[in-house]
Amino acid sequence: TKFVFDFTEGNRDLKDLLGGKGANLAEMTNLGLPVPPGFTITTEACKVYLETGSEPAPLRDEVSAHLKALEATMGKKLGNATDPLLVSVRSGAKFSMPGMMDTVLNIGLSDSSVKGLVKQSGNERFAWDSYRRLVQMFGKTVLGVEGELFEEALEDVKRAKGTVNDLDLDAADLKGLVKTFKKIVKDHAGRDFPQDPREQLDLAIHAVFDSWNSDRAKLYRRQERIPHDLATAVNVCSMVFGNLGEDSGTGVAFTRDPASGHQGVYGDYLSNAQGEDVVAGIRNTVSLSELEKLDKKSYDELMNIMQTLENHYRDLCDIEFTIERGKLWMLQTRVGKRTAAAAFRIAVQLVDQGLIDLDEALHRVNGSQLAQLMFPRFDEEAKVERIGRGIAASPGAAVGKAVFDSYTAVKWSRSGEKVILVRRETNPDDLDGMIAAQGILTSRGGKTSHAAVVARGMGKTCVCGAEELEVDTKKRRFTTADGRVVEEGDLISIDGSTGKVYLGEVPVVPSPVVEYFEGTLHAGADEEGGLVKAVHRIISHADSVRRLRVRANADNAEDANRARRYGAQGIGLCRTEHMFLGEERRKEVERLILADNDADREAALEVLLPLQKTDFVELFTAMDGLPVTVRLLDPPLHEFLPDITELSVRVALAEARKDPNENDLRLLQAVHRLHEQNPMLGLRGVRLGLVIPGLFAMQVRAIAEAAAERKLAGGDPRAEVMIPLVGTVQELEIVRDEAEKVLAEVQAATGVNLKIALGTMIELPRAAVTAGQIAEAAEFFSFGTNDLTQTVWGFSRDDVEASFFTAYLEKGIFGVSPFETIDRDGVGALVRNAAIEGRKTRPDLKLGVCGEHGGDPDSVHFFHEVGLDYVSCSPFRIPVARLEAGRAAI
Ligand code: PEP
Ligand code: MG
Repeated sequence: TKFVFDFTEGNRDLKDLLGGKGANLAEMTNLGLPVPPGFTITTEACKVYLETGSEPAPLRDEVSAHLKALEATMGKKLGNATDPLLVSVRSGAKFSMPGMMDTVLNIGLSDSSVKGLVKQSGNERFAWDSYRRLVQMFGKTVLGVEGELFEEALEDVKRAKGTVNDLDLDAADLKGLVKTFKKIVKDHAGRDFPQDPREQLDLAIHAVFDSWNSDRAKLYRRQERIPHDLATAVNVCSMVFGNLGEDSGTGVAFTRDPASGHQGVYGDYLSNAQGEDVVAGIRNTVSLSELEKLDKKSYDELMNIMQTLENHYRDLCDIEFTIERGKLWMLQTRVGKRTAAAAFRIAVQLVDQGLIDLDEALHRVNGSQLAQLMFPRFDEEAKVERIGRGIAASPGAAVGKAVFDSYTAVKWSRSGEKVILVRRETNPDDLDGMIAAQGILTSRGGKTSHAAVVARGMGKTCVCGAEELEVDTKKRRFTTADGRVVEEGDLISIDGSTGKVYLGEVPVVPSPVVEYFEGTLHAGADEEGGLVKAVHRIISHADSVRRLRVRANADNAEDANRARRYGAQGIGLCRTEHMFLGEERRKEVERLILADNDADREAALEVLLPLQKTDFVELFTAMDGLPVTVRLLDPPLHEFLPDITELSVRVALAEARKDPNENDLRLLQAVHRLHEQNPMLGLRGVRLGLVIPGLFAMQVRAIAEAAAERKLAGGDPRAEVMIPLVGTVQELEIVRDEAEKVLAEVQAATGVNLKIALGTMIELPRAAVTAGQIAEAAEFFSFGTNDLTQTVWGFSRDDVEASFFTAYLEKGIFGVSPFETIDRDGVGALVRNAAIEGRKTRPDLKLGVCGEHGGDPDSVHFFHEVGLDYVSCSPFRIPVARLEAGRAAI
C-alpha cells in the first residue's frame, strides 16, 4: 500500500483514504487553483499507528521521498538555516470534525532557522512571532503542556507593555517569549523543544494521529454518529503566511449564506493574522466587502475562485484562504454545513440554476432537517423584553436558565433543568455543555466561530457574537447594554433564526412549515425566503418517486384528520386501548374482568359494543377511502384496573372503619390474581382474546357494524383487523375462526358485503421465525418493532433508557438506541427474513411496520430495502417519512 499522496495525486472521491481536507486540497490543486504544495498521509497509516502504537514501516521513507519532492518544488529545505521551508501539519478525517483534532503550524522553525526566516521575510518581528507560535502549539498539542501556561506568559508580557493587542509586541518581546515558552516546555514536558525539523515533523504527525482518539473527538463522533474506526489523514502543506504585515491576512468564506441559503458571498477576514485567529474569534474580523477595499486584486480572484468552486461542486462551499503579501492562497474547501432551512432553499435554488436535478435536490436534504423545520418558534406578537441581539447562527427557539460553564450546564440538565450555555466564546472543551444545553449564546465570534459551526452541526439553537452583552464567566453573570444584570439561573430565551435574546420565557408558535402541512398558512405568508415553497417542491418530488406508502398511527378522528392533512395514506395502527378507558367504560371493563359467569360478562360487553362502534364510525369517516388497520386489545389487564397500592389502602381503611366495600374487596382479589412480575410478557395481546370469552368478538363486531353503517351511508370504509402479540399460527387460527363467524353474522344481518382483511402483528421473535406458517392465517403482517426490539434484545422498553442505556451509548455498544433506529443486524434480520418467508407462503401478503421506527429516517431506508409496502408512524412524523421514503427510492 501507498501511505502518502501528493496533492496532485488525489481527488475529491478519495475522502475515505485522504480525509475530506486532503481530498479537497487535491481537487483544488487539479482545478488549477492556488493551493500551497503538499502531501497527505492516508487514514490507513493512521489506522496502523492506532492499532499497533507505531507507524507502518514504509511510512518514514515515503514521507522522506515526498518531502524531498516538496523541497525541490519550493526550492527550499525544511528548517534550513538560511532559507527554510516551513510546513503545517493538519488533521483531516472523512467527515468534518471542526476543531476536534490537532493542527501544528510553522514546523521547521528552530533557533537556527528562525534567523533564516528573518532574512527570507525581511521581517524580524514576523519570524519571531512564528517561532513563538510553533513552540506554543507544539508544546500544547504535541508535548501535552497545559495551554494556559503559554497564554498566561503571553498575557504577562502584554501587561508589562501596557497593551492588550498582540500586534503591539515587537521582535524583542517575541524573542523573549520564545525563551520563556521553551523553558515552560522544558519544565512541564521534561524535554527540550526539539530543534531537529524532521523530529518536529514526525512528532507532529503522531500527535495528529493520536488526536483521533482524544476525549473530545470521541464525544463529538458519538454525538454526530461518526464511526470510530475511520481514523484521520494528515496533511503536510508548505506554509504561507497571513501574518507578514498589513498586506497579508487570513479569512474564511461561504459561497452562500449558510444560515438562510441566500445567494451571495459571506465571510470574515482578519489582516495580519494566521490560521486559527479567525475561527477562534480572538480579534474582531471584517467582512469580505472590506477586503475588497483593502486588496481589490485578491478580492476579485477570490470571487472568481468561489464561483469556480460552486459550479464545480454544484453546492455551497466553505473555504479558508490566506493572503501572503498580496498573493492569494486556498487552504481548504469543502461542501459547507448549513442550517435545515438553508438546505431546502439551496437545493431548490440549484435546481432553478440548472446545476442539479430534483432527484439530487432530494438527496441533499433529509428527514431530520425537515423535522427541525417543524419545531415551533417564538411568538413575535408576545410581549417580550429584548436584552440583546447577536448573529443568527443556528435556528430554533430555545428557553432555559442561563449557565456560564460547561460543567454547570451538564449538572443542571442532568437534574432536569433546561439551560442556555452563555460564554464569551466557546472552544472544544465546551462540547459537553453545548450538548447538554437547549441553546448556546456567545458574545463574540461570527457565523464561522466555533460555537456557530458546532451548533449548526448538532442542530442546536445558537446566537453568537451578541457583542453588547458583557459576559463575566467568573462571576457567573452577564450585563446588558443598559446595565441590567442576568445571573446564573435566570431564565432567558434565544432565537437562533433572528439572533434576538430575551429575558424570561417567550411563548412559541407553530412553524410555517407545519402551517403549510396543516393548510393554515396565510396567502403570501412565506416571507422566509421561499422556505415553504422549497419544502413543497422537494416533498412533492419525494411523493412522486417513493415506493413505500406512508400511514399513520392514530386512534381517534382528530389525529386521523391531522394525519390526512400531513399526507397519510391510511392508518397503519389504531390502538384500541383508549376505547376501554374513561369512567363509564372503565366500570364495564372492571365488570368484564371480575365476571365469573357468562351473563355478567355479556352484559358488560353489550355496554361496550355501541360505544366502540361509535368510535369506529368516526374514524372510518375521517379516513374514508383509505385503509384503517384496527388492532384488537393489546395491553396487560392491570392497566385497566385500579393501582394495587391505592386499592389496598382503600380496602384497609374501610376495614378499619368496619365498613368493607364488597366490590373493592373483589376488585382487590382480582388485582392480586392478575398481578404479574413481567406484565409485558404476560396476559396481553392475542392471549387476552383467547382467555376472555367474547372480548375480541365484541371488538370485531363493533368494527364490522361500523363499517356496514358507513357503507349504507354511502361511505367507503376500508377496515382491516389486526391481532397483536401472536407467537404461533395456532393462536391466530382460533381468533380468525371466531372473527370470521362474527363478520359473516354482521354481513347477514346488514346485507352489506364486508371485505375486512385479517392480519397479525409480527412482534415476537417466534412469530418472525415462523412467519411462513403464520402467513397461512394472515392476509397482512405489520411489524411491531417496539415489542420486537424489546424481545429480541431482552431489553425492557419501559426501563432501559433510564437505567443503563447511557452507559451503553458511552461505551459505544450502539451509537443510537435500538428503540429509535432499527437494529439492522439483529431485529432487522428477523424482519427481512419474515418478509421473505411470509411472501413465499402468500405472494400477495401485505407488509408494513407500525413501531416507532416507522417514522425514523434511517429505519425508513431499511424498510424500503427489505421490500415492505408501507411504514406507519405518528401523524407529526409523516412528512419526514414521506421525504425519507422518497430519498430511499432514488
Ligand atoms: C410495537 O410493539 O411495535 C407496536 C407498534 O405496538 P405497541 O407499541 O402498542 O406495543
Ligand atoms: Mg407491540
